[in-house]
Amino acid sequence: MHEIISDLKSYLEYLKGIGIVSLPCSEIEHDASRPSRILTLEEVRKELGDCKRCKLHRTRGTIVFGEGNEKAALMFIGEGPGYEEDVQGRPFVGKAGQLLTKIIQSINLSREGVYIANIIKCRPPQNRNPEADEIQSCSPFVMKQIDVIQPKIICALGTFSAQTLLKTDAKITTLRGQLFDLQGIKVIPTYHPAFLLRNPERKREVWEDMKKIAEWLNNNERIKEIE
Ligand code: URA
Repeated sequence: MHEIISDLKSYLEYLKGIGIVSLPCSEIEHDASRPSRILTLEEVRKELGDCKRCKLHRTRGTIVFGEGNEKAALMFIGEGPGYEEDVQGRPFVGKAGQLLTKIIQSINLSREGVYIANIIKCRPPQNRNPEADEIQSCSPFVMKQIDVIQPKIICALGTFSAQTLLKTDAKITTLRGQLFDLQGIKVIPTYHPAFLLRNPERKREVWEDMKKIAEWLNNNERIKEIE
């Protein structure tokens, strides 16, 4: 970083030396995928509207936008709604959701204190895996939710969430338990609660990941208090 800044300084000195004293802003690149105007979740929800951007709108019951604390330090991001979520319009309210609630409570937090969302907002027929075009149409909205909430840490639940957020093809078994960076926000992938319902012997690993999240949140809150 120091090297980049020092190179940049030298280059600006050089430009000054040859008489260039200002730079046209329009030529400064910015990340177009990051919204600069959206300020609230309500606005993101409004932009999503009665979404028909992908084929899932034909078979869905309800759009499941997400719920929780708009100022949450911790955000959970799953894959997409299942049957119960599609009926109720709320994320993680079926059997896997009940397990997620317990996982959240295991680190002394509540569903109301965190924010829960999914990569895709509409239920795929028969709960099949989301397809690439569906993820592509829908994932900008979870990115906007992240942008509004600005959590300190995101727990990515399962393969699709981890792979989409981290833009990787790596397996969840490799990714889980590691801390990654997404635009300055930590991301820790772990197993999806639905996977845990089928493989309860893997709960221990999720517990390890949750302890890591709690520890990271504690340490960073403390830094904030000292500042
Ligand atoms: N599985 C998910 O990934 N999300 C939900 O909301 C429910 C089940």
